[in-house]
Amino acid sequence: MNQIDNIMKKLTLEEKVSLCSGIGLWQTKDIEDKRIPAIWMADGSNGIRIMKPVHNQRKQDTSEFLQVTDLTQNSPTITKQYEAVCYPSGAALASTWNMELIESMGAMLGDECNFRKVNILLAPGINIKRSPLGGRGYEYYSEDPYLTGKTAEAFIKGVQSQGVGTSIKHFAANNAETLRINMSSDVDERALREIYLAPFELAIKNAKPWTVMSSYNKVNGVQMAENRRLLTDILRDEWNFDGVVVSDWGGIKDRVQALKAGNDLDMPENRRNNKSIQEAVENGTLDESVLDVSVRRILEMIFKAKAQERFKDSIDWESHREIAKKVAEDSIILLKNENNLLPITKEKYKKVAVIGAFATEPRYQGGGCTLVNPTRISNPYDEICRLAGNDIKITYAKGYEINNRINDQLLTEAVEKAGEADAAVIFAGLWVAYDREGFDRKTLDIDSSHIRLIQEICKIQKRVIVVLNNGDAVTMDPWINGAGAVVEQFLVGETVGEAVADILFGIVNPSGKLPVSFPKRLEDTSAYPLFPGECNHHIYGESIFVGYRYYEKKKIDTLFPFGFGLSYTEFAYSNLKLDKTVMNDIQKLTVQVTVANTGSCKGKEVVQLYVSDKESRLLRPIKELKKFEKIELEQGESKTVTFELSYRDFAYYDPEAEDWVVEDGIFDIHIGKSCEDIVLTASVEMKDAKKKFRYLYLDSQHARVFENTVSKKMYLDFLVEKGVLTKDNVDAMVPLLKGNYMGIYNVITSLLGGDITKEEMQEKLDEINQVCTAKSKAESCF
Ligand code: BGC
Repeated sequence: MNQIDNIMKKLTLEEKVSLCSGIGLWQTKDIEDKRIPAIWMADGSNGIRIMKPVHNQRKQDTSEFLQVTDLTQNSPTITKQYEAVCYPSGAALASTWNMELIESMGAMLGDECNFRKVNILLAPGINIKRSPLGGRGYEYYSEDPYLTGKTAEAFIKGVQSQGVGTSIKHFAANNAETLRINMSSDVDERALREIYLAPFELAIKNAKPWTVMSSYNKVNGVQMAENRRLLTDILRDEWNFDGVVVSDWGGIKDRVQALKAGNDLDMPENRRNNKSIQEAVENGTLDESVLDVSVRRILEMIFKAKAQERFKDSIDWESHREIAKKVAEDSIILLKNENNLLPITKEKYKKVAVIGAFATEPRYQGGGCTLVNPTRISNPYDEICRLAGNDIKITYAKGYEINNRINDQLLTEAVEKAGEADAAVIFAGLWVAYDREGFDRKTLDIDSSHIRLIQEICKIQKRVIVVLNNGDAVTMDPWINGAGAVVEQFLVGETVGEAVADILFGIVNPSGKLPVSFPKRLEDTSAYPLFPGECNHHIYGESIFVGYRYYEKKKIDTLFPFGFGLSYTEFAYSNLKLDKTVMNDIQKLTVQVTVANTGSCKGKEVVQLYVSDKESRLLRPIKELKKFEKIELEQGESKTVTFELSYRDFAYYDPEAEDWVVEDGIFDIHIGKSCEDIVLTASVEMKDAKKKFRYLYLDSQHARVFENTVSKKMYLDFLVEKGVLTKDNVDAMVPLLKGNYMGIYNVITSLLGGDITKEEMQEKLDEINQVCTAKSKAESCF
């Protein structure tokens, strides 16, 4: 008998119940005389957030949560937290497309958890960016499920390599902040599987996070914490997740239902909820075995955490900061660079005006539960001065008030300074109040005072470089034409100053690529005008057509496409090779392509592979990202990149088959510099892909019955047995039945005069559905 069996045997009902919630805000319950220790959890996605006064006290006061209300970057309460390295936020992290680097950052976060005595980091937050208005867009990764899933996988592997667990969140379809506690995400099954669940599935299967955090919202009317289909049938039975499901903080409404659905742990401490579990067991409405399953999982998590614990008493912040800087540098995206305005060199410019309050008080993180008390923030202005040295004169003007209030005097001074210089670098974007948990944005514009500043400066200065600080995609319509260069850095963490200065001066060659499309107008976005929703319903009317999948299908031009980002060097692609031209669905396809650095300096390129299904029974996007790799090339160097594609890369989710389906036909394999800039394409023909069985109903058509040999045989045998057909005419009848458009039950009872009751027919269909689904699943190749 193992340690947990032993403990389980000795626990009283009350003790078991007590383990289902925490102690205070961040700790699991300990039971001293049963030798059950407590473990600690802490946010968050881009650094560790721990309040000083409560941590390490035996009992935390949950009301502490209410006192810390201002969770913005400039919050006066930020110093109440322990210091931690503020790493790039999710949007920036995903812009790196650099999985190795993300894993190193995860390892640094894990190490910081060990220093702060934290066993589980409440991260990563990976919800799909359904709309750029989503208030937590800064924290989440991408509009694309594959990029999101891979980024999460690398993050989790990194953290967990240090013996610290993660909590992948917020499961599931929690894509807006508006009414996030009450609203239902009304999403069709295909979109749920292909867009919203897919990144969780990928990361959970590949990286095995210790915990999954259920989200606050409902999915199709069912509260997530009580959603047995998602928390048990899919998460555990289909994906084999064997860890703990923890609620989002205060997210459980009906504790007993939540336990039955598979939400094991209720955080933070909630004694009333625990009491309801106890009452339900005592009055027989909850089977104690259901409680036991969750208690066992919680104990397994606690003992795993304790066994792997590598707590330590010292930390080298600078080495952590160094990784944060590398990630930041890899993430910054050069969106526009007319006439090579960048990089800044002494040959090009003698005097550069740095404009905008963000140059000295940069935006570098979002608000809410990702808020970090940074170790040392660098500011772009100081770092630009440092790199300019005595070669280039740098001047500065504030340009606008940090809180977006118009100040004409600041504006006039800035225009004057910009006019006197050879080039103006304007720092602009979104004030912190708009990127935070609990709120969605109302507009995609950057701050109005920043727009006005850029417009006024563009009237008198031909060389304008705009550097943006914002959480997620913004529109640039009113000013983009006047700006010769645009650099997007999202919220890049505490090394913001060094990272951006290195990019501006070409010390580092930009290599970030957009993890989201930048639309021309809010009205062009896929969720418009339905986002965020009303009357407690968020209607996902665009289905699978999210982000570039939407713009491409609708032929809507974007301002900058998904996957886009410039470099100071050039890359040439050649030699796209597939190892076969015809394949079946159980084979793998090897794809190779050669990339050469043909420009004038060393650089990194993200090789992107998209797959297009040329013809399909169900609607499909024009193309979908299926693989990518970031490579570094010296000037003149070339490398061959190899990708392997398999079943799932060609499949769509068929709700009628309840499975992933690959169809015969031609698939195009595209290699691109972005989703729009496809440089090479080759095709492969899929042949003899196994047909997946689709459920039969009384009103299904006969063609569907005959799609599958087993269902065909079982069904025809039944008709012969019932005397509707005879052994002699059955073969001749098949083509006639197949061509008829009426539902099967009506064809049999009306056209063929069969005397079969609905119940009899339904019973037969249930049997066929069961046999054929089991066979189809058994033959499934992944
Ligand atoms: C957030 C979670 C976070 C939790 C604990 C919630 O409001 O949605 O992401 O982990 O609080 O701070």
